[in-house]
Amino acid sequence: MTRRHDVPRYGPRMATPQGWIAKPGEDQFAHTFGGSSWDVSDENNDLPKPALVMTLDLNDPRISLPKIDGLHLLPICSHINCDAWVKTQTYQINPDSRRLSLVSENDSFFQFDEMDRFPNPLPETRIVLAQMDREDYPINEEMYWTACDRFLGSSSFIRVLGPPVWLQWVDEPVCECGLSVEYICSIGYENYQHPGGIIPGKPFFIGEGALYFFLCPQCLKVVVTSQPS
Ligand SMILES: [Zn+2]
Repeated sequence: MTRRHDVPRYGPRMATPQGWIAKPGEDQFAHTFGGSSWDVSDENNDLPKPALVMTLDLNDPRISLPKIDGLHLLPICSHINCDAWVKTQTYQINPDSRRLSLVSENDSFFQFDEMDRFPNPLPETRIVLAQMDREDYPINEEMYWTACDRFLGSSSFIRVLGPPVWLQWVDEPVCECGLSVEYICSIGYENYQHPGGIIPGKPFFIGEGALYFFLCPQCLKVVVTSQPS
């Protein structure tokens, strides 16, 4: 994986492409948060199992990712009950068996206190994709900080497509096959005192940072990176 530090995190080019904020609600497409519609496995590591965080309905024309034969729902997965999410995670999607396997190795971790742990699987919640507001586009330095405030600790914490809000650096991961990967979405965290209900009675908060999800359409791999806030 390569990391480029010389690319700006904000600027006029961040006005496009169009992005979406995922919130609890009924969408005409079958986007969901949590649930158990995919089986998640981790055979390499002795860690709490990763969780299915979100599935995006690829029939939705707003999801402008390359079309993949036989894949109609794109599963998004991560460690959420231990700090192993700080390392890059790579998941293999197996559409036939509806299984996601963590193929990267990560043996050092700290398991969260029982109070901070999430049920796994997460309760399934229907989500709606709402157009990003003007404030969600980091088109200059001032707007960048506004977008950060909305991404971390507020209602715009799940960003689907559109420009990513990079917290520290610009991530441009490369798949093991050598191809660059497509940015899918990113997840910051909710306000601890005022959660929006995507998980009943609990805020989505796994630590001070954000997760970034990428797809290699060739290998059917999802690469998950993170950045601290
Ligand atoms: Zn690949």
